[in-house]
Amino acid sequence: MVIVDFQRCGYCGGCVSLCPVGAIELVETRPVIDQTCMDCGLCLGACPLGALSLEGQEAERGRQGLALRRRYDVVVVGAGPAGSTAARRAAELGLSVLLLEKRQEIGSPVRCAEGVGHELLAPFIEPDERWISATVDKAQFTVMSGDKVETKRAEGGRGYVLERRVFDRVLAEKAVEAGAQLAVKTAARGLLIEDGVVRGVIVGGQSGVEVEASVVIGADGVESRVGMWAGLDTTLPQKDAMACAQFLLAGIDIDPTCCYYYISQELAPGGYAWVFPKGAGKANVGLGVQADMAARPALDYLTRFIEGQPHLAQGSPVTLVVGGVPVALPPARLVTDGCLLIGDAARQVDPLTGGGITNAMTAGQYAAEAAARAIEAGDTSAAKLAEYEERWAATLGRKMARNYRLKERFGPARRASRDFVRIFAVAAAGA
Ligand SMILES: Cc1cc2nc3c(=O)[nH]c(=O)nc-3n(C[C@H](O)[C@H](O)[C@H](O)COP(=O)(O)OP(=O)(O)OC[C@H]3O[C@@H](n4cnc5c(N)ncnc54)[C@H](O)[C@@H]3O)c2cc1C
Repeated sequence: MVIVDFQRCGYCGGCVSLCPVGAIELVETRPVIDQTCMDCGLCLGACPLGALSLEGQEAERGRQGLALRRRYDVVVVGAGPAGSTAARRAAELGLSVLLLEKRQEIGSPVRCAEGVGHELLAPFIEPDERWISATVDKAQFTVMSGDKVETKRAEGGRGYVLERRVFDRVLAEKAVEAGAQLAVKTAARGLLIEDGVVRGVIVGGQSGVEVEASVVIGADGVESRVGMWAGLDTTLPQKDAMACAQFLLAGIDIDPTCCYYYISQELAPGGYAWVFPKGAGKANVGLGVQADMAARPALDYLTRFIEGQPHLAQGSPVTLVVGGVPVALPPARLVTDGCLLIGDAARQVDPLTGGGITNAMTAGQYAAEAAARAIEAGDTSAAKLAEYEERWAATLGRKMARNYRLKERFGPARRASRDFVRIFAVAAAGA
């Protein structure tokens, strides 16, 4: 039987074309091999990444990607907005930096509705039409409760609906321009830990390559393992996790300069639905459901929501996006000896809106600056790296904590109230 190393597999489908008995199928992004496989091995040579081998005959798989150094000042795990911003800042500060990304294409698949405010984004990067799908200056809030429907509109302020596939890649390129080394399709598989101190990462497949670092920054998103490996408790309570589903709908008629929000416990229990324009006749149409309140999968709520809105139902889905959003308080500790967590890995998402892009970038900057000071001082202990925690807590962390308290105070049963909608509108505007 042919074995697939999924960490290496690039889901190109080349192997399928060579199989004489049709035993291999490319199921979305995974080749699946069934029992009719004859062990002929014809598919092995067709794999550009050496991901296939015959059971019991482990073939020479070859190197994966370009050579890494044995040691860096900083290793950043994850090239999302948090990781790329941290890597860029650390490199600007003169540190040697390795930025690891497990996916072969940065920013894909997208797990985001892609809305950001201009004021929060501008300190990090000049707006560029390559990664902006729509510029918005209005927001509409519709509250639906039973037969009652109430709509409020707010104008002013500037925001963007991004094209994250391009945006995330441009952020990573900026990190490289600043001097960081980027390695794609290179996952961190664990941490090097000595006497409780994080000393680096283990990357690659089964054999694993050890890369030492003075500081490891965990920017590995909602699915973060770095925190857990480092002994930080990042487990989310079910009530603080949102299950989200979204279609990019084409062929719809909406105001391309307005973001629409729908608050309704029937449509999206514990969460809300959104329609964010993506250019002429297109929008990200999605919703999030609080995980402990979901009687059905989020995708099911989404299709019902769209079916109930004739102006959306006339469109066709072009992509399906799914994802989990942490709407929790950050863990008690974001640092340990030699390691910091940032972005979704540190649960630094707005608990009311689920927005996390610019928070992740801010945390990336703070973490890189704290790491640089710690390395310069020759002290990368948790006590020294706590500068980052303190700076976060005194700035954006304070806002997150306030919004978490408001989320708790206005439980799902109170979300149709005018007070909540006002609070939500303020949070959606990024204040
Ligand atoms: C449906 C949905 C809608 C959203 N809408 C919005 C919105 O409109 N506005 C907004 O501001 N926020 C939104 N968010 C949240 C936003 O997407 C995140 O907060 C943001 O992407 C966090 O950035 P990050 O860099 O921390 O994590 P990510 O963007 O998730 O990046 C983490 C990276 O780490 C990589 N990685 C993971 N593990 C490893 C490993 N072991 N080794 C190497 N690499 C690894 C991943 O492949 C990934 O590229 C939404 C989220 C969802 C799910």
